[in-house]
Amino acid sequence: MTAQEASGTYHPGMPTYLGMPAFPAAAAAAVADSQLRANLAHATRTIRAKRAAAVAELADWEELRAAGKTIKDHTLANLDHYLLRLEENVIAAGGHVHWAQDATDANAIVAGLVRAAGTDRVVKVKSMATQEIGLNEALAAEGIAVLETDLAELIVQLGHDLPSHILVPAIHKNRAEIREIFLREMPDAPEGLTDDPRALAAAARAHLRQAFLSAKVGISGANFAIAETGSLVVVESEGNGRMCVTLPETLISVVGIEKVLPSWRDLEVFLALLPRSSTAERMNPYTSIWTGVMPGDGPEEFHLVLVDNGRTAALADRTGRQALRCIRCSACLNVCPVYERTGGHAYGSPYPGPIGAIISPQLRGVGSPADASLPFASTLCGACYQVCPVAINIPEALVHLRAKVVDAKREKIISPERTMFHVSGRVLASPRLLAAAQRGASLSGRLVARSGRIRRLPRPLSAWTDTRDAPAPPRESFRAWWARTRGTR
Ligand code: SF4
Repeated sequence: MTAQEASGTYHPGMPTYLGMPAFPAAAAAAVADSQLRANLAHATRTIRAKRAAAVAELADWEELRAAGKTIKDHTLANLDHYLLRLEENVIAAGGHVHWAQDATDANAIVAGLVRAAGTDRVVKVKSMATQEIGLNEALAAEGIAVLETDLAELIVQLGHDLPSHILVPAIHKNRAEIREIFLREMPDAPEGLTDDPRALAAAARAHLRQAFLSAKVGISGANFAIAETGSLVVVESEGNGRMCVTLPETLISVVGIEKVLPSWRDLEVFLALLPRSSTAERMNPYTSIWTGVMPGDGPEEFHLVLVDNGRTAALADRTGRQALRCIRCSACLNVCPVYERTGGHAYGSPYPGPIGAIISPQLRGVGSPADASLPFASTLCGACYQVCPVAINIPEALVHLRAKVVDAKREKIISPERTMFHVSGRVLASPRLLAAAQRGASLSGRLVARSGRIRRLPRPLSAWTDTRDAPAPPRESFRAWWARTRGTR
């Protein structure tokens, strides 16, 4: 059961993640699940160690990281220019470009394209942008069935679950649980299927093969979009992505506007940074690159749907915008002590972990309990910043977003803390009120003190005395002593 279901806020058919409870409530359910914590601890520990070894092989890792940051910052500062260049070159290569302001726009565009292709069934490559906009649910509402073809996404889909990791969406499941899901939900699962990873992968491969060969429409995201030539790039490990972007007659790629890179030279940097940070590989097993359409080779129609969905607003925030540099490697999740204990569902967003804590509240605003709680879902230990291949200062962005959340609440909420500081400010600004307060505190303090210590105070001051004693105020304040001994105030 997902945290969303546990909270009673999930309804079948609703866009994923909407109505999630705040992080503390969702996390409480997750940390109580010892199997989940064991699965996560094992998986993140393994990936962490492998990534560290892969990164240590490159003597110029820090220079690469700085280059990645610089390229992304330059692109974001000139995003309008590079997006228009990308559009121009995609169209020149025979593709079509659609602009979607938000999730509703993007989903309607994709649904229209699928219907125009004359089918009600699509194969899909794992894509964070399509999860963000709730594409699968939107297409299902239009009577269009989506088959996820990435192994982990397929596990999540068959298990009626939600992804919990950017790169390893089924990280919260162990292989015995996966075997059960396959036997229960996959009609063509072989009898006697074991939980051996090879057997599970072979069962999934056989299940997907026919769908690849018969699908008329494939849907993908893209890791990068090259403005210089209008080319799209998908990196992956299983080969399902290549099948999706080459076999169907129509290819629809749904891509966030921040994925654009100016040129091929820039791609070189990211193809070094991404695999080592994500799967701890020197290079990805499959890197698919396509430019428009080519008669007799690959899809006959190509549509690029460029999605804003809150990115322009994030770009306007000088501190928060660095989140748009993210290349979705998931290294920050694997080192985060909070993520390791709660898993991804508690974040109430397709983007879990440290990057989720800074990107979701920017894309969706801080109006919902889940989004307002995310910037606080961190110890600010800084491990995420250290491993990020594009040097996103996540702790800085978290603190910045915490201030935004507090500011948004400030006008609505009269908290005891705020009231106390307000009253204290008035008292400290007036010598007369301060002297009266000191006299009052001295008198009342002596009444409740025992042996010079106050052991229990009424609420809200009991928050202090619940865990420690408070010293009794002195009989005479410094100001009263000064006036008595020096004869002046
Ligand atoms: S924030 Fe950095 S480390 Fe985290 S997923 Fe994005 S690029 Fe990777």
